[in-house]
Amino acid sequence: MIAVLREGCPVKVKAEIVRFIENAGYRVQVSEHAGQSMIGVVGPGAASLAGPLADLPGVEEVRPVAPPYPLVSREHHHAARRVKIDEVTVGADEFVVVAGPCSVESREQLMQVAPALAQAGARMLRGGAFKPRSSPYSFQGLGEEGLQLLAEAREATGLKVVTEVLAPEEVELIARYADVLQIGARNMQNFRLLAAVGAQPRPVLLKRGLMATVEELLMAAEYVVANGNPRVILCERGIRTFETSTRNTLDLGAIPVLKERTHLPVIVDPSHAAGRREWVPAMARACVAVGADGLIVEVHPDPDNALSDGRQSLTIEGFGSMMGELRLVAGAVGRKMAGGSGV
Ligand code: PEP
Ligand code: MN
Repeated sequence: MIAVLREGCPVKVKAEIVRFIENAGYRVQVSEHAGQSMIGVVGPGAASLAGPLADLPGVEEVRPVAPPYPLVSREHHHAARRVKIDEVTVGADEFVVVAGPCSVESREQLMQVAPALAQAGARMLRGGAFKPRSSPYSFQGLGEEGLQLLAEAREATGLKVVTEVLAPEEVELIARYADVLQIGARNMQNFRLLAAVGAQPRPVLLKRGLMATVEELLMAAEYVVANGNPRVILCERGIRTFETSTRNTLDLGAIPVLKERTHLPVIVDPSHAAGRREWVPAMARACVAVGADGLIVEVHPDPDNALSDGRQSLTIEGFGSMMGELRLVAGAVGRKMAGGSGV
């Protein structure tokens, strides 16, 4: 929202307007253009200040500024959106953990890992059946057989299933098996795919693109919501920077920014950011502290022999001890986490 000041508005009056806005808890951005002063009012719920501001001496007019993502913006929908997947809610008090292998490889693999994850407190099971791989010669996923295995694991454990959809023509198939449709980083700006997941009812986990700004992520989410599906969960998974020590650079700063700009829940993927399992627990602890709504993490019963992303996958044991650490941080910042039984 912008307050346009009267021409020749005295500095003292301008300072009073700034003080008024700051006292109301908002940030101020002052700009001058062609002899006219404008004061931007920044912060969630800023629109509520429009009336009182318009009545102040020196103010000529108050104009709303519509962000390019009105449906997902916090300015237009102040309350946090809770995405409910049956009894699991993302975006409420509970810090929700999604865990599982990068790719679904076999029944044995999934049945080894899924019950242990539920036992340790995960609420959802991740696993790719259709995999986006940099090389066409790498394992591409089990396809529909992988989806069937995920559904079996859900039956056995009660964990909700999150799995990736790569193409608009596969949305219907994947939605038949999955509880949440994942849009991977490489597809964040695949606008046809965003429209397709927007036109069906399953919640969507939208991962930030490797080179995408926060605003581009929000505009991608806007595509999904504008096509009819408001149940979107955003995911920060690391971006590509000049730094090569980690696989990607985890942009934890994006979490408070997103929390300010959108009402959608935000989770973090420390696995694809770190690239090495040794670094995942430390980054996961930070996710809890920084105010994310949950995390998605890769866990494999035998990471050294995984068909994809083994280097960054936690062992089952490593996942268990990480969950213990996350509970301590969650307690310290007033968040709840599912207990050891997984329910
Ligand atoms: C994945 O979750 O396995 C994956 C491919 O993630 P991203 O799209 O973030 O690279
Ligand atoms: Mn992966």
